[in-house]
Amino acid sequence: MDKILVFVEAKGDGPRKVSLELLSEGLKLVGSGQFSMEAVFLGKLPGTVKGKILHYTEKLIHVTDPALENYTAEGYAMALAGYARETGAKMILAGATQRARDFLPRVAVLLQTGIASDVTGANWDSNPMTFIRPMYGGRVLAEVSFSAYPAIVTARPNSFGVGASLAQKGEFAEFQAGISPGQVKTSVIKREETTLGKVDLTEADLIVAGGRGLKAAENFRLIEELARTIGATVGATRAVVDAKWRDQADQVGKSGKTVSPKLYMGAGISGAIHHIMGMDTAKVVLAINNDPHAIIFNYANYGIVGDLFEVLPAMTEELRNRLGK
Ligand SMILES: Cc1cc2nc3c(=O)[nH]c(=O)nc-3n(C[C@H](O)[C@H](O)[C@H](O)COP(=O)(O)OP(=O)(O)OC[C@H]3O[C@@H](n4cnc5c(N)ncnc54)[C@H](O)[C@@H]3O)c2cc1C
Repeated sequence: MDKILVFVEAKGDGPRKVSLELLSEGLKLVGSGQFSMEAVFLGKLPGTVKGKILHYTEKLIHVTDPALENYTAEGYAMALAGYARETGAKMILAGATQRARDFLPRVAVLLQTGIASDVTGANWDSNPMTFIRPMYGGRVLAEVSFSAYPAIVTARPNSFGVGASLAQKGEFAEFQAGISPGQVKTSVIKREETTLGKVDLTEADLIVAGGRGLKAAENFRLIEELARTIGATVGATRAVVDAKWRDQADQVGKSGKTVSPKLYMGAGISGAIHHIMGMDTAKVVLAINNDPHAIIFNYANYGIVGDLFEVLPAMTEELRNRLGK
């Protein structure tokens, strides 16, 4: 039976949603009878993560080592590659998060195999399995397969759904990575965490984003009010971040975050390719721009040609009324 490893990541006290999405896909494969699956967690494991993950897997492996106390790409790569070797895994699945993007290519090098990164779809039933990767800002969809194993796949959050949890909890085991002291060449001196207190952009179902058309930092309150009304996360273009109107954590695009929400609302955003590259897999795009020729309309399912200073307050008020807020 071929083994699938799913790299599980925590966010705060809980597991990342994308980890549950991939475990849910893995469970479907387990259901076919040809695969077994293990969830793999590296480093300090929050108890709540353990509790939730055990409902989505037959087995959770907690890989421990002093080198995993603080995240380093080297330490994580050695630990995951070591466990994949130990188990003879045929496939490693992970969310295309900042962390996985950082260390999984190293795992591929250590295991002398390939990696399909940032996939948005998979054909699990084909032989060999194939995976869809958006390229060139989503203008091209490449279909890729593997000729070396384990196949390493990172999937864009929100590309797959979270399925039903298992009636019975999976088992839990620990594995010592056995990384020799000195093997990891970098060390973490200090960590400062910011608590943003909102849904991570990469995992948000609803995003309201603003661009330079807002004209000033204080006008972002129009975006924030609409976002608050519908429970969305705020996004921004790089022009806005460069102008210091918003934090870099809010930036969507090539040099920012890649998002795949159910709904992406963008106001005062021109639709430069560098921005589109970060949001072109949104299921529904609604664009507001006063220029009817703005490129973003080419990518939008719904477009409102109008002044955002009129449209945004009107939408917020209408939605507040409809939602009874
Ligand atoms: C290597 C590289 C990486 C980059 N990475 C990113 C990235 O990650 N993310 C990103 O976003 N950009 C990125 N950029 C920058 C990108 O090319 C664009 O410059 C940027 O996205 C433009 O931001 P914008 O749409 O807010 O501004 P603009 O292009 O200036 O667009 C403003 C829009 O607002 C509209 N508008 C103005 N007033 C109103 C109004 N009253 N009502 C309604 N609409 C109005 C205008 O018609 C216009 O379409 C990158 C560039 C490079 C070179």
